[in-house]
Amino acid sequence: MLREYYRSVVRPVLRKANHFRNLYQDRSCKIIVLIYHRVLPCEKSSFMDMVVPFHTFENQIDSILQQGPIISFQDYLEQSRGLKEVPSLQFILTFDDGYVDGIKYIAPFLKKRGVSGVFFICTDSMGRNKPLWDWYIMNKFKDQLLPQKIMRILYQYKALSEEERLERINRDFSIDFSKTNDADRCLNWSEVVELTRDHFEVGSHSKSHSSLAFLHPNLAHEEISESKRMIEEQTNKECRLFAFPYGGPEDWNNDLIQHVFHTGYQGCFTNIHGYNRFEENNLVFKRVIMTPSTDVRYLLG
Ligand SMILES: [Zn+2]
Repeated sequence: MLREYYRSVVRPVLRKANHFRNLYQDRSCKIIVLIYHRVLPCEKSSFMDMVVPFHTFENQIDSILQQGPIISFQDYLEQSRGLKEVPSLQFILTFDDGYVDGIKYIAPFLKKRGVSGVFFICTDSMGRNKPLWDWYIMNKFKDQLLPQKIMRILYQYKALSEEERLERINRDFSIDFSKTNDADRCLNWSEVVELTRDHFEVGSHSKSHSSLAFLHPNLAHEEISESKRMIEEQTNKECRLFAFPYGGPEDWNNDLIQHVFHTGYQGCFTNIHGYNRFEENNLVFKRVIMTPSTDVRYLLG
């Protein structure tokens, strides 16, 4: 109850105040990286705000475009090399988890607006005709438990390796992972290739969507390098970007960040909330999680 009050009442006020403080006190050029998960043609949000209704998404993108340009990662690199002018405020769109919504709704809309985006995919989920593991849990409990309680359940399993996780979830909740689900499936490789042909960037979100910091370092390193290799093999394009699954402070560490760059990625994305200063030229990006209720007028907060 208290948490909900903080989330819906206190946090928006704090964000608004921080937004104006940052806007007037910080004169640096700013890049705001937004995270969306799923965008679906539905009336209201569901799945703990992970789903943004398509009409809300359209409105959010259109009002963001009134504040500053939405750039591609390539634009960012060219700005860093001094080849392009740097606007005082600009945005990068990222879409985590690689659901089919990317090709069905998101990419066609972005193409209409002439803007780019980065799709972060989990390579183990390619072509399985299924959602990621955490979707099964959210789907099972969405009408029974509060979002925070579901989050706590997810947190127990995100630290396990894929094999162990599926076995434990199956045992604890008798969820059948063998069922396919066409509406909630992840992309397949031919759709991923189509995205790259349309000049969208495809980055890695690991292989199995586990919290990498909890895995054995060898396993975590493999998730980072093997997913890059597979994306490059399938798309014939360099996979330049990596986004940590869950992305919170406990989900990654410096060793993993070093491994990301050592593997050859050029940018790394976390879910640490905030905007990025262009001048710092830091290739580890903070991001802002977008929900249907995010007020796009105060994204610097
Ligand atoms: Zn994710």
